[in-house]
Amino acid sequence: MRVYFDIHTHTTASGHAFSTFKENLEEAAAKGLTAYGISDHAPAMPGSAPAIYFNNFKCIRREVMGIRVYTGVEANIMDSQGNLDLDESVLKKMDYVIASLHVPCIKPGTAKENTDALIGAMKNPYVKIIGHPDDGRYPLEYERLIPAALEHRVALEVNNSSFVARSGRLNAAENTARWLSIAKEYRLPVILNSDAHIYYDVGDVTESIKALERAGYPEELVLNAREDGIEYVLNKKL
Ligand SMILES: [Zn+2]
Ligand SMILES: [Zn+2]
Repeated sequence: MRVYFDIHTHTTASGHAFSTFKENLEEAAAKGLTAYGISDHAPAMPGSAPAIYFNNFKCIRREVMGIRVYTGVEANIMDSQGNLDLDESVLKKMDYVIASLHVPCIKPGTAKENTDALIGAMKNPYVKIIGHPDDGRYPLEYERLIPAALEHRVALEVNNSSFVARSGRLNAAENTARWLSIAKEYRLPVILNSDAHIYYDVGDVTESIKALERAGYPEELVLNAREDGIEYVLNKKL
């Protein structure tokens, strides 16, 4: 499967990542991607960039080194209502918003509470992707999550970093297999992302592709498998 874009990547601005925008972009070019997305952690993540960073994306050109560039954010879900750590005034300027549960920002709740948090975030019109819905530290009711994703036109992410041995996320392979088997029934569009925190991981979704193959997931439902798949996750209220 050819993958055309990777839009979940971090730079040094996230506070715990190791490469620059330029280094990431060079890697995206080397891997043959046609588009690259920058999505640093929003301000509630310790050490991450303040809101003014995300307000300044206007200085980033739409095309750099021959690659289409999208500017987004990985927002933190702060409570079981799905409230995020950035105001609408910032979110509306993003090309896309990923919403995720992170240990420094929200304590794991029951499966019901965690699922309510993600569904609450999906109701935010700027949220287009749910990041890594595979972390056993945050058990989820996938039977409820997946129809909600379809209803709110939000893509679920098959996160490559979740599968690496040193990932802090729990039982990601098993959890991903579970949610993909349900998502397949609903024909839910999915997105493959590296979640790179260092340049050489940009564009690497090898483990995500293996997870899709194990699940027998139809390629036509993989947003990155075609260039115009990006349209599904772009904010239209720019
Ligand atoms: Zn994350
Ligand atoms: Zn991330």
